[in-house]
Amino acid sequence: MRLIIASNNAHKIAEIKAILGAFYEEILSLKEAGIDIDVVEDGDTFLANALKKAQEVFAVCDADAALSDDSGLMVQALEGAPGVYSARYAGAGHDDAANNAKLLEAMQGVPNAERGCRFVSAVALVRRGLHTLTAQGQVEGRLLRAPQGENGFGYDPLFYYEPLHKSFAELTAAQKNGISHRKRAIEALCAQLERPC
Ligand code: IMP
Repeated sequence: MRLIIASNNAHKIAEIKAILGAFYEEILSLKEAGIDIDVVEDGDTFLANALKKAQEVFAVCDADAALSDDSGLMVQALEGAPGVYSARYAGAGHDDAANNAKLLEAMQGVPNAERGCRFVSAVALVRRGLHTLTAQGQVEGRLLRAPQGENGFGYDPLFYYEPLHKSFAELTAAQKNGISHRKRAIEALCAQLERPC
């Protein structure tokens, strides 16, 4: 079974491969599959964007299935922002550091009790000859006042995970992949598969 991951984000791809590696004979990123496609993520929800990515990639790929993840950070005090705009919060073409700096500025002066946030991941699996599956996962945390840790990507250095007393960027890849929003979404997706995943 050949699965294409509908993403160009190297960190996401590595995480998905680590989580799903045992269940597919071949898992390829867009780049590895030689697919050059730019899906416009203009949905209002993570789920809408995930579905769109998986459908558009499946339509042009030679595989049994295409899996997408659309994810982001939702901060309570900012009414769910950056949300679906997480990747481009500081503007198109800006990097993780710029996004994090903008978020810290927006959260300046917000007390600890109001710094609740959650990572959300919506995943969609479009399959040849079978109906499409979707699922969502989330993990709760608290937004730090300064970056902590060097691992991971995106908002990981600002996301404090209370049960382990560490930011996501202070976790090993295996620790993060055991509890992350992405892991939970993929698990919920696998629970719907006809064969064990
Ligand atoms: P997407 O590629 O449109 O789904 O954008 C995802 C964006 O959300 C990333 O660029 C990150 O900014 C953020 N994000 C999603 N998942 C994670 C994660 O596991 N850690 C840190 N940031 C994440």
